[in-house]
Amino acid sequence: MDNAVSRKSPTRGGGSPDARRGFFNTRLLEVVLGDSQDGVLVADWRGNIRRVNQTLCALLGYGPSDLEGKNIGRFLHLWQEDADFFEEMVEEVWFSGFWQGEINPRRRDGQVFRARLRVNALLPAHGEEKVRFYVGQFTRLAAVATGGTGHPSNSGLDPLTGLANRFLFEDRLQQSLTQARRRNRSVGSMFVDLDRFKLINDSLGPSFGDHLLTVVAERLTHCLRTSDRVARIGADEFALLLTDIDDGSGAVRNIGVVARKVYEALSLPLTIDGQEIDLSAAMGVTLFPQDGEDAQEIMKNTFTALAHAKKKGRNSYQFFSAEMAETARRRFDLETRLRHAIDRGEMRLYYQPQVDLKSGKVIGAEALVRWMREGGKLVSPAEFIPVAEESGLIVPIGEWVLRTACQQIVAWRKMGLPPIRVGINLSAVQFRRQDLAAIVENLLAEFAIEPTQLDLEITESAIMEDVQRAVKILNHISRLGVKLSIDDFGTGYSSLSQLRQFPFKTLKIDRSFVRDISSNPGDAAIVSAIIAMAHSLDQTVVVEGLETPDQLAILRSLHCNEMQGFLFSAAVPAAELTAMLIEGRQLPTG
Ligand code: C2E
Ligand code: MG
Ligand code: MG
Repeated sequence: MDNAVSRKSPTRGGGSPDARRGFFNTRLLEVVLGDSQDGVLVADWRGNIRRVNQTLCALLGYGPSDLEGKNIGRFLHLWQEDADFFEEMVEEVWFSGFWQGEINPRRRDGQVFRARLRVNALLPAHGEEKVRFYVGQFTRLAAVATGGTGHPSNSGLDPLTGLANRFLFEDRLQQSLTQARRRNRSVGSMFVDLDRFKLINDSLGPSFGDHLLTVVAERLTHCLRTSDRVARIGADEFALLLTDIDDGSGAVRNIGVVARKVYEALSLPLTIDGQEIDLSAAMGVTLFPQDGEDAQEIMKNTFTALAHAKKKGRNSYQFFSAEMAETARRRFDLETRLRHAIDRGEMRLYYQPQVDLKSGKVIGAEALVRWMREGGKLVSPAEFIPVAEESGLIVPIGEWVLRTACQQIVAWRKMGLPPIRVGINLSAVQFRRQDLAAIVENLLAEFAIEPTQLDLEITESAIMEDVQRAVKILNHISRLGVKLSIDDFGTGYSSLSQLRQFPFKTLKIDRSFVRDISSNPGDAAIVSAIIAMAHSLDQTVVVEGLETPDQLAILRSLHCNEMQGFLFSAAVPAAELTAMLIEGRQLPTG
């Protein structure tokens, strides 16, 4: 039986615009709403509830005036822990005019029940752009036990926060483990216990405590991806289920990132009823499969880890295994130090010369960042760039690199050296977050640099994230006269024909192709094809990671244009490159 309010309901039947305007007053509507055994609401195109019927009020335990005028999104957000739920529903309604699914509405008294919700869009009249109204129809479903293991709560949801409760969490954990086992993936389980919550609750009152918990629930939910889950498993204990993470050391790093996010989300300033609260928490973490076989064991070990963390004091976290703890601690440490690296002047810019294979002359250099940590230890970008990207620190670091390279170009010009092109690596994050074209334009003006002396290196994956945006930005940069190179070519999944739409002047072949080129004819064939295709697009080809004379001979025979690699020089401080340029050092020509 489907008595959903159909799309041919009153608005459309009403015909003339006047009839539509009078929609909410028609007796017909009152009859439809009043008669229904389902809870029905009508919302306008913004989702603001305009009408509810008696059945809905009874179902939810609210009066009409509590609901009308409120936004339906607010209720749905409250009821559904999945952050994307509402967005997905709206999208579906927008495209197909209809959505149906099961939800867990919470009554005013806190009780949660299951219901089927059907949403119909009443389509706009011809020529109108926006969907006019939505009709939502709630059918109460019989309560179903979640998992059937004698759970004390039917809904599996915590009435205060609307999050899953401990039992539902354990069910979901078990499901995730089954899936992860099949797919050879890892699952993370993280328990978060608020510091001093009991003290706060006792001294400021339980309603204050409740408010605090809902804020924490919200903040935790925001730390996660859609596939992850948050649950409230104790008075002030929350659990995070992290699914679909890489296995091995990648998993530990992933979890470390989430731990950091949780830590930061909780330390954001928080004021409730004019009272400032300094939140902190202890966290315990385990990873499947290494820390437990099934949900029960994982839960138990996560509690153990949490107990250890609590002992360590405020704002601490603990991994169940020692090895995990160590990796995560190092990452946390690295990020904390990296935050201050620029201010403390610990960043260095090295330059690796690029040589023209025909003339043997140095015609460019790639700027490669280094981090000189206290004690003089030089950290490789391979180690800290991923951390900088995850934390967003790559943005200030990237700006520092651009600026420093520009200053160096000016310095070389003042020394009277022939101009060389300087390559600068851009991260996908910079590309996504910043208006790079404007930044580059400003730098060119500020330093009065010949645009062709700048060469921005971008990887395939960075531009494939959002092709249209990338085309726009890169075209803008290219119009400024700045050169663009595609970096690490061959490691992504793009094809040269896809890259045709971008204004790249240069293609850099990834060094993984070069490593075995003299012993592996397959690699030589690939490199040869890449070079031929790039040349047909008028692109210069630079080979990276050239280490031996054999490799050099092969690349010359394949008509590669330029090289960069240890055979000529590793990346060196600016002063060393200056000396090389003054000396006129060259690669012997074949
Ligand atoms: P990349 O852009 O592909 O840079 C080339 C890397 O290959 C450099 O490593 C360089 O030192 C190394 N290399 C050059 N010649 C040889 C060789 O003959 N043999 C071997 N084995 N390696 C060679 P590096 O400096 O450690 O940089 C690693 C990556 O870090 C860079 O790869 C780039 O993706 C990133 N990176 C470096 N500096 C920056 C920066 O300022 N910003 C951003 N976003 N990323 C950077
Ligand atoms: Mg590069
Ligand atoms: Mg490269």
